[in-house]
This record gives sequence, structure tokens and C-alpha cells, in this order.
Amino acid sequence: MSNGLLRRCLLLPVSEHAHAAELLSQAADALLRHDIPQAARLIAQSNFPALNDYRRAIVGPLNYEIHRQTRYPVYERVQRDRAHHMPGAAITRNVLERDGYRCRFCSSRVIVKEARRVFMKAFPDAVKGAGKNTGVHAAIETLKGSIDHLLPFQRGGNNDLENLVTACSPCQFGRAHFLLAEVEIEDPRKYPPINDSWDGLVRLRGFKADSVADAIRFKRGGGSDSASNIARQPEMAIAEDKAE
Ligand SMILES: [Zn+2]
Repeated sequence: MSNGLLRRCLLLPVSEHAHAAELLSQAADALLRHDIPQAARLIAQSNFPALNDYRRAIVGPLNYEIHRQTRYPVYERVQRDRAHHMPGAAITRNVLERDGYRCRFCSSRVIVKEARRVFMKAFPDAVKGAGKNTGVHAAIETLKGSIDHLLPFQRGGNNDLENLVTACSPCQFGRAHFLLAEVEIEDPRKYPPINDSWDGLVRLRGFKADSVADAIRFKRGGGSDSASNIARQPEMAIAEDKAE
């Protein structure tokens, strides 16, 4: 049962959060210098099953220990124009930058959607969107950054900067339309954002990923160490890494 104490997030991050962010950052650098096999290897290495376990525990069925709720919130839905649900691109960028590209709840480093799209386009076999049943990349899906309304939109929250925070995918979707107090989570605005050298991989904005995917397609059927083969065999890549 709940002890009534407020907490920062639904479930504390695991060590793989930081490790995956580091590997994906190195993958971004490898892509930018067009070292495609190395980028593919790093993306495969960062695909930690523990991150899928973490995310599924939060976004899956309600668990009182995590969600502090046994059912979805019951509330008077505020009638809103859905067109104004999400803030525009400029506000989104402001919030992400203000928050140091970190989830304001669990402090995990997050990846901007443009970087996620570059990875998906460059390595479609290794990085699939959330709608796919299999092959969702554990790290890229879990560290996906988004903008969260502290007072949920459906409960009257607006797109003022003070109501918006950067959130990772599990923190965003795990809270759903609950108020912070309803899930016993502290107001993250009590803590300043962490601003360090982490850039959310915004440096991949504008990167032409099509040429990478084309190059991999061209190579397909070739040698066993082609980038696409490496990207499709994450376990093997991890095993090789540990053996070194
Ligand atoms: Zn989070």
C-alpha cells in the first residue's frame, strides 16, 4: 500500500538508461561521419531488453505499486479543440532545450523525434515504430522524448510553457490523464532542469538517412558483416562486445 510519500517518477530508471543513451550518442556520431557499420553495431548494442521490461511495466497493465491507481482516472472531461492539443514546433523545441533534453520526472536523457526518425530511416530492420508487434528498439522507444502537460490537456491544461515539461515515453504514457497528486508524484518544477552536454541528438536534425538505407539495401546479400546484418543481430553484437 501507499505510504503517502510523493516520488519523482512512477518507476526509477535502470542502469541501462544511461548506458543506452551513451551508445546512441556514439551511434549518432558514427552516422555523422558516415561510419555506417559502426553506427549499426552501436544501435544493436543499445537494444537492451531491460529497457523493454522497464517500459512495459509502466505502460502495460495497471500495477498499484507503480501507478498507485487501480483504474483509469474518472473525471469531468473538459471539452477542448483537439487541434490545439499539442504545442507547436517552436514551443516544443524551447521546452526540450530548457529541460536539457531530459525527462523532468525520471531525469533520463531523451532523444528528439527527428533523431529517432533518422535511426528508423537509416536502419529500418533494427529500429521499428511503436506500432510494430516485434522488433521495437528498446532504447529508442524508451528514451523517446515528448512534451507532457503537467495539468493534462483533457483536464483543462494549456500549452503555456509553465505547464509543459520534457518527458520520456514511459513517464508520459504511464501517467496518462492523472493529475500529479493522484499518482503521488511530485511537481517536477520544484527541481531545476539538468543542463549538461547532452543534446537529445538534435545534431542529427537534417541528416540525410535515405542514403544510408540505400547503401545498406545495395549491400544486402553481401558479406556477413554488412551493416544490415549487424543491425539485425543485436544479441550477437552484444556477445562480441562482452568478449573483447
Ligand atoms: Zn521519465
